[in-house]
Amino acid sequence: MGMTITEKILAKHAGKASVRPGDNIWVNIDILMTHDVCGPGTIGVFKEQFGSTARVWDPNKVVIIPDHYIFTADSKAHRNIQILREFVKEQGIKYYYDPDFIKGEGMPSPYKDPMQTSYKGVCHKALPEEGHVRPGEILLGTDSHTCTAGAFGQFATGIGNTDAGFVLGTGKLWLKVPPTMKFVFHGQIPPYLTAKDLILAVIGEIGVDGATYRTMYFAGEGIASLTLEDRMTLTNMAIEAGGKNGVCDVDEKTLRYVRKRSNIPQWEVHQDDPDAEYFSTHEFDLATMEPMVAKPHSPDNKDTARNCRDVRVDRAYIGSCTGGKITDMIFAANILKGKQVKVPTFVVPGSTEVHADMLRLNLRGEPKADGEKSIYETLMEAGCQMGPSGCAACLGGPADTFGRLNEPITCISTTNRNFPGRMGHLKAGVYLASPLTVAASAVTGKITDPREFIEQPIATGHAGIV
Ligand code: SF4
Repeated sequence: MGMTITEKILAKHAGKASVRPGDNIWVNIDILMTHDVCGPGTIGVFKEQFGSTARVWDPNKVVIIPDHYIFTADSKAHRNIQILREFVKEQGIKYYYDPDFIKGEGMPSPYKDPMQTSYKGVCHKALPEEGHVRPGEILLGTDSHTCTAGAFGQFATGIGNTDAGFVLGTGKLWLKVPPTMKFVFHGQIPPYLTAKDLILAVIGEIGVDGATYRTMYFAGEGIASLTLEDRMTLTNMAIEAGGKNGVCDVDEKTLRYVRKRSNIPQWEVHQDDPDAEYFSTHEFDLATMEPMVAKPHSPDNKDTARNCRDVRVDRAYIGSCTGGKITDMIFAANILKGKQVKVPTFVVPGSTEVHADMLRLNLRGEPKADGEKSIYETLMEAGCQMGPSGCAACLGGPADTFGRLNEPITCISTTNRNFPGRMGHLKAGVYLASPLTVAASAVTGKITDPREFIEQPIATGHAGIV
């Protein structure tokens, strides 16, 4: 019997020739990632269970990326950073991306130059940028959207602090092999759709528990036609359907990116066997799909942007690990160029690298020539409020968080979750949508199908990016 990508990776890391869905196995972990919210708790579990003088299993395989509560005066948030710093020093952890502008009390002044700080921004964007994501490996993280890295053909999933504390001490975890649901997309991605529309359509079809403890495998020529960054949006939101992990095939786009970035020279590419078994198969035709939204208060509350055209919005938000990548910024800037936003529109780069790219690239994603506008300038001139990179208001955070919904208002957002209170106020309503739809809605002040604004295809897939 054939195996899927996920089954092959898990079998290899368990030292077995094959595994089947439902098998319980011990696997060796390649990378464990944690951040400022869950890192202190994970360290606490590790010390409690392994002893106050214990050493982590491999200081080169633990990656710590503070990203959640960074630009805030909240003293507990600052204390978390301090705990991470002390642990990194104590354990000799090689890969730690310190928000070096946090010096003490009060609101930190953000980095002046995004390339001159050790801080990176959102962990799921920074992990591949910094060379920690490779096909065929197992990446665990104390964050539910760790599944993002499955876009690179690896097994990546979120775990809790208790499991992470165990992994810190042993480098192993006991896992049940998930069955795989296959989502096949036919056709090429049209200029008015992004991966966000695709994943909202999928979650709307199967529900927020439709893939519970299963692999979501995204396949077909439609997925091949996406940029690697856009594939990250698909796998990122696998968890919004309850998925254990999301995964895409490895192709030249993946290999080009990983060859350039990986800090380990070798990895293994797996493919589904022709006779691999699937829990279910779902087919979509990109030619018939429309720009989608998820209405408040659930990612599966799907509708088309067109159907929601009478919904007024008070705010637009472009950011997060789902919608703060450079391709997302290019999508948004191409809609907003030469226009003015009608509602307050907050823009948060997913990483400091995205921030730097926004400053140096034009709207085609190429290095800007003299006299050309950058992505950053275009968004600023459209009236957007520009923040430093990080999670920011994606998960609300302390009351002083940039872009946080502190009132019961309606927001259209490129983020991935819209449960009550997720972006701040319990009574705020959040519509999830693609960066194209969010930007179009920012211009009109109502939910707007981006086809009203797109004159020609937007180039995001050039070699300089992904
Ligand atoms: S950007 Fe949002 S979804 Fe992504 S890691 Fe941060 S809080 Fe989580």
